[in-house]
Amino acid sequence: MTIKQNLNAIKQTLPEHVTLVAVSKTKPVSDLMEAYTTGQRIFGENKIQEMADKYEEMPKDITWHMIGHVQRNKVKYMAPFVSLIHGVESFKLLKEINKQALKHDRVIDCLLQIKIADEDSKFGMTPKEASDILQSEDFSALKNIKINGVMGMATFTENTNQIEKEFKFLKSTFEDLKGLNTQNCQLHTISMGMSGDYKLAIDCGSTMVRVGSSIFGSRNYN
Ligand SMILES: *Cc1c(COP(=O)(O)O)cnc(C)c1O
Repeated sequence: MTIKQNLNAIKQTLPEHVTLVAVSKTKPVSDLMEAYTTGQRIFGENKIQEMADKYEEMPKDITWHMIGHVQRNKVKYMAPFVSLIHGVESFKLLKEINKQALKHDRVIDCLLQIKIADEDSKFGMTPKEASDILQSEDFSALKNIKINGVMGMATFTENTNQIEKEFKFLKSTFEDLKGLNTQNCQLHTISMGMSGDYKLAIDCGSTMVRVGSSIFGSRNYN
């Protein structure tokens, strides 16, 4: 199957309210261009430098999502162009994103990453930490960021019951946060689901799936 065939097959299965982020990390620009000519405009990367390099090389109507763990000292390299940062897991990071966005006179959209997996290796905040941030005065002072929703990564397991439980937990966290009376954020996005579990994620309420290997083939990290 070609990238074009993979993309078209996946797009056919997605409900209209679900946004597809094509996760192109480690893949060459030629592969991304194949997806681009098929009509894909949203790409997700997990390394800031790699995303910035691809941004330079590729057409400017692409929307770039940072889906990986973000180091604060690197935010400045993506601040001029990034459209959505999925992995925000601390207030300190939000402050840095706000500061860099201000320099470019932009408002950068962000998702709060919630830890839903049973693995220490996965990042994210607790629902309580997220709600504390959204209700804090310090947060309402940040005018150059916008929180659009939440993101989560399920445990790497074959156990679909567990994955389903984790996705439902993210969905209910989203509903709780949405119910808070915060004036300066409008939550509408639940970023959950990857190649192996995006259908289940959609059944559990996902509005944004991050699909890599099912589009571009397996990754080689050497
Ligand atoms: C790599 C990655 C994906 C895509 O994974 P696939 O299994 O290749 O679809 C999704 N989300 C995050 C955060 C990733 O790092």
